[in-house]
Amino acid sequence: MKAAEIRSKWLAFFESKGHKIEPSSPLVPHNDPSLLWINAGMAPLKAYFDGRVIPENPRIANSQKCIRTNDIENVGKTRRHHTFFEMLGNFSIGDYFKEEAISWAWEFLTGPEWIGFDPEKLSVTVYPEDEEAYRFWNEKIGLPPERIVKLQDNFWDIGEGPCGPCTEIFYDRGDKYGDLSDPECTTGGENERFLEVWNLVFSQFNHNKDGSYTPLPNKNIDTGAGLERFASILQDVDSNFDTDLFMPLIERTSGIAGVKYKTNEDNDVALKVIADHIRTVAFSVGDGVLPSNEGRGYVIRRLLRRAVRYGKVLGIDRPFLWELTPTVGEIMGNYYPEVLEKREFIEKVIRTEEERFHETLSDGLTILADLCQKARAEGRTVISGPDAFKLYDTYGFPFDLTEDYATEQGMTVDREGFDSSMQEQRDRARAARQETDSMKVQGGPLAEYNEKSEFVGYEGLTAESRVL
Ligand code: ATP
Ligand code: MG
Ligand code: MG
Ligand code: MG
Repeated sequence: MKAAEIRSKWLAFFESKGHKIEPSSPLVPHNDPSLLWINAGMAPLKAYFDGRVIPENPRIANSQKCIRTNDIENVGKTRRHHTFFEMLGNFSIGDYFKEEAISWAWEFLTGPEWIGFDPEKLSVTVYPEDEEAYRFWNEKIGLPPERIVKLQDNFWDIGEGPCGPCTEIFYDRGDKYGDLSDPECTTGGENERFLEVWNLVFSQFNHNKDGSYTPLPNKNIDTGAGLERFASILQDVDSNFDTDLFMPLIERTSGIAGVKYKTNEDNDVALKVIADHIRTVAFSVGDGVLPSNEGRGYVIRRLLRRAVRYGKVLGIDRPFLWELTPTVGEIMGNYYPEVLEKREFIEKVIRTEEERFHETLSDGLTILADLCQKARAEGRTVISGPDAFKLYDTYGFPFDLTEDYATEQGMTVDREGFDSSMQEQRDRARAARQETDSMKVQGGPLAEYNEKSEFVGYEGLTAESRVL
């Protein structure tokens, strides 16, 4: 089943249950200074959840573009994480609650006319004290106790405000993806066999100022399921990247690089990271974010540069990301016409930024060559931490490239000095930053975007990533 069909089925299913279908909101939050990016389907609907706005229909469903920069290190390493993904959601604003949410989730997942998963492969986690949810799964749905795992973590709470337990649904991908003798290989554990597909949050309490919990008069449902994860199961492929949402991008990139997917692990990671980042960059540019040195623009700049560096792992030494934009449009344009309508603009922004980065790299090399020469003239064999940091921070020249170049010149770089310059800069930035808070949505720690989006881009590349 193609991803587009899964998305349509989701919307049709919830429409048949009386939901109003909302289009995806842009990736940039509207009127919400607490959030850098829309990171869950519920994020653009917050005003309904906290009662500021009364929705026309208390039942809503959507497929929402999301960005989660905190998952960047997982991209290409796990089978299931992206920085940009689509979250399918259904929501109840003071209308239906646990029983319907659970039964409809089950009906959608196992109904042969919907996505028709084998019910035997599904298991769930519940909050240990949420006896209601346990009972619905056990008695109404008929899940045996061994497939209902109680997990203390299944509670959404940000201190003051609405909060409540959640239940998550997992699909068993089979022996190939994990060995049951591994204690982590269980529903809710850190493994890739039991794939988390859907999170159902039951917002039913208010966490009061004095620390007590009281039932909310209007209980809400907030759920989120990953379209790419559904697709990987329904297309019976190894990872989200092997679905029709990513393969055309991987094919295009491997064509440009002249490499073959699935012949070399480092190359595969690079192909996946590029396929991931180009979607994030293309969609955010389409939603009006331009590469810059701060905020969202900075995230985009760093993601793009990271993709360029991974391109170098594949031996691509020229601007190429912009050429992937039409492919993003072909895959996604049906539901998100903006990537088609703004294609030329997106291409131009990406191309200009790529060209600039290539210039940065060559300027950095010139500066670095001078530094090495000077050091040698002074009888030093070490490039100082502050010098390396200045190259990185002011000129955007990656640390590992500085290190590669130094090695070639028979020199070293003071890594500790670099790290402490970095730390000082972070401390300054942190002190300057205003603390903000945000209503928690699925994936709560995401609200801490300030911390997370401090970029990790230049670390974690392999030694082959040299450009010299
Ligand atoms: P995981 O444990 O796999 O990191 P999560 O618990 O952080 O997922 P939730 O915050 O519960 O995810 O989000 C709801 C759903 O959105 C998940 O069940 C999953 O299907 C999907 N999802 C979450 N994060 C990502 C991501 N980075 N890439 C793709 N899909 C995601
Ligand atoms: Mg999880
Ligand atoms: Mg989850
Ligand atoms: Mg997560």
